Amino acid sequence: MAERGKRTVRDLRRGNRASLLRHLYFEGPLSRQELGRDTGLSAGSISNVVGELIADGMVEEAGAVESDGGRPRILLQVSAGYGYVVGVDVGETRVRVELFDLALTERAAADLPLSDGGHDVDHVVRLAIEGIDTVVREAGIDDREVLGVGIGVPGIVAQGDTAPGEGDGIVVHGQTIGWDAVPLGRLLRAGTELPLYIDNGAEMWFGGGRGAGNVVIALIGSGVGACVVANGTPYHGASSSAGEWGHTTLQVGGRICRCGSRGCLEAYVGAEALLGRWQAAPEGVSEETGLAALLAAADHDPQAGALLAEAAEYLGAGIADLINLFNPERIVIGGWAGLLLGPRLLPSVREVAAAYALHHPCAQTSIELGRLGADAVTVGAATLPLARFLDAGGERTVRVPAPSTGQDGALDPIRNRIARAVR
Ligand SMILES: [Zn+2]
Repeated sequence: MAERGKRTVRDLRRGNRASLLRHLYFEGPLSRQELGRDTGLSAGSISNVVGELIADGMVEEAGAVESDGGRPRILLQVSAGYGYVVGVDVGETRVRVELFDLALTERAAADLPLSDGGHDVDHVVRLAIEGIDTVVREAGIDDREVLGVGIGVPGIVAQGDTAPGEGDGIVVHGQTIGWDAVPLGRLLRAGTELPLYIDNGAEMWFGGGRGAGNVVIALIGSGVGACVVANGTPYHGASSSAGEWGHTTLQVGGRICRCGSRGCLEAYVGAEALLGRWQAAPEGVSEETGLAALLAAADHDPQAGALLAEAAEYLGAGIADLINLFNPERIVIGGWAGLLLGPRLLPSVREVAAAYALHHPCAQTSIELGRLGADAVTVGAATLPLARFLDAGGERTVRVPAPSTGQDGALDPIRNRIARAVR
């Protein structure tokens, strides 16, 4: 019983810390009085917990405001420099890594190009570890100040049976890039001790829940995907594979898709498919450069113009399907290719969607271009360790010791290879 009583007191204390930290983070700066009013905690509890948070360096004073007749009230905020979070975007053309302070201000970034679309897992893991080491070094901080690393990957992420931040049991299924049950958490763990949080990159565009109600984020890159947000929460389905919108069939018996099926939306709209069919596509350049060239050529190269017109029609029809299925209030087009193509294609995409969708739900849906930039995924990924930090009341996730990289030869071959590669 004593054991149980102790745990309850500890849980309560942690709950109070989490409640105040979260509130200060999202609503701050706030005074102690406002914190009491908003959280329902007593003045005594507020005073104790705030005292602890200030002593720990997580919360700092941020000026004062006049109060009616009384003493000025001191404002409090979460200290942006208390710790750092890292976001990793495993994209189709590059691994991008950014390090942020707690206010999500970027402090360092690294871009590591991928030449094979992310098919070679070891290469991706090595670049991610290299990027994490680079941003920590460039920011001039100690890696003990990093609260965790969030990683957005293409594919279906099975979280497995692991504690938050441990990451070891996480497995990624990425059919289009040939990742079949890749134990990504365990592979990354061989190269870093930092807490790891891995999730689907498409959802990162939704970020840490920006108050969206019913929204679909349509992501166009090399391939095509979607993140369906229902009542403010991303919809996952039975095994987290919901949102594979790019592989819905728009043309029965149509073009072969890289998933192996035929007539998928992706085979008409994805950057890889578009460039693969453009005869004048420049060779030996990145997909971004290629797609920019396709856009630039569209007004004088009839084939380029026709490809983009067809892409707009398929995208509009695909969006009409989203409208009929989910009745969203907004459809946001994102992804690097979506942001590049959007300004040119959006007017015809809207027209086509209106022609194919049911009129009533369509009239209530807006189709917009994402306002988040190309670093949306790294920011979204970095919010994973940040959210964990706030939810835990500032308690650190236990650091997992890195495996020995000694010469004993007892490590499994993959770990050995990665350990050599990142040294
Ligand atoms: Zn497909």
